Amino acid sequence: MTGAKPAPAQFLARADLQRLLEALRARGYRVMGPVPRDGAVVFDEVRSVDELPRGLREAQEPGRYRLEPNGRDTVFDVVNGPGSLKPYVFAPREKLLQVEPEGRSFRAQELHPDAPKLAVIGVRACDLAALSVQDRIFLEGRYPDSYYAARRRQLFLVAVNCTRSASTCFCVSMATGPEATQGFDLALTEQEWGFLVRAGSALGREVQQALPLTPAPEAALARERTSLETCAATMQRKLETADLPEVLYRNLEHPRWHDVGSRCLSCGNCTMVCPTCFCHDEKDEPLLGEPDEAGVRSVRVREWDSCFNREHAQVYGLNYRPKIEDRYRQWLVHKLASWIDQFGTSGCVGCGRCITWCPVGIDLTEEMRALREPGA
Ligand code: SF4
Ligand code: SF4
Repeated sequence: MTGAKPAPAQFLARADLQRLLEALRARGYRVMGPVPRDGAVVFDEVRSVDELPRGLREAQEPGRYRLEPNGRDTVFDVVNGPGSLKPYVFAPREKLLQVEPEGRSFRAQELHPDAPKLAVIGVRACDLAALSVQDRIFLEGRYPDSYYAARRRQLFLVAVNCTRSASTCFCVSMATGPEATQGFDLALTEQEWGFLVRAGSALGREVQQALPLTPAPEAALARERTSLETCAATMQRKLETADLPEVLYRNLEHPRWHDVGSRCLSCGNCTMVCPTCFCHDEKDEPLLGEPDEAGVRSVRVREWDSCFNREHAQVYGLNYRPKIEDRYRQWLVHKLASWIDQFGTSGCVGCGRCITWCPVGIDLTEEMRALREPGA
């Protein structure tokens, strides 16, 4: 995948979308896409376009998510669900090392992940932006993460431009959407009769050539421009970003932290659904069984953690964020301020997942507005 300028659009008829899945599978990819499961749309394996959320859209509000019919023949009208690209590159749980005795010492052997070729269709512009944030964290630092890198190399991304937004989206404020402009292999815009298709990489062009495409009609291109502009102009949520770090650093003792701390359950849902959160824990577990009755072999395991977990701030018997308000403040200040000091980019891409999937409907855009007001 490259950041090269996308090629001109071509047109794929709705009836030929299955050919895209087949072209990807013919190249050895396992194809994942948005599918309705238990009342929400999640990413899962897709063998047929009939498994996509046909004729559905979602209504999202703080603490609420509901699928409903949209009365049209669409497959990509659901903007997003709780899942993102995160688990495909940063595994929720994985073994990193195996440690065994060797003479009077120990030997640590890196356990390389099995990373099959994976194509994900239906990825949104905010998801691509989140992946680029994660690339910076896991690949561009002093110590690139080989586990992340192995999976990242195998990804083929088919983006879908957003022609409608959920009420919880604020990608325009974060300058990450609604149009996918880079980081994809192919990008689609869904229209009544089919899809505008653009390639963003050499691999994308190769797959594009396997599809029965026709030149994109001028009218379809004009409709696409209008729908993207309308989507951006009608986005309901906004976040003022220009002075975010200053506002947060200036207000570390603001009474709003106590207020939000009294509502927050510290459940960690927001961090699990967030496509950029990367808190994790590492622990050593015994590797029992033959030939290790003595239990001297072990594996080092990494698993997702959350800064909302009390234990995440437990160090040598002391807890440096004992109260929920401490942990909410840590999360928000890191996301919107110190993340920029650390990685040169915001930790938030405006996908709105943390707002929808918070069981008590805490909305970071609302919290930021309150933090801008003088404390009582
Ligand atoms: S903080 Fe919330 S809105 Fe921002 S990227 Fe994470 S889940 Fe999306
Ligand atoms: S902000 Fe919401 S989702 Fe996040 S920990 Fe608090 S209650 Fe859970």
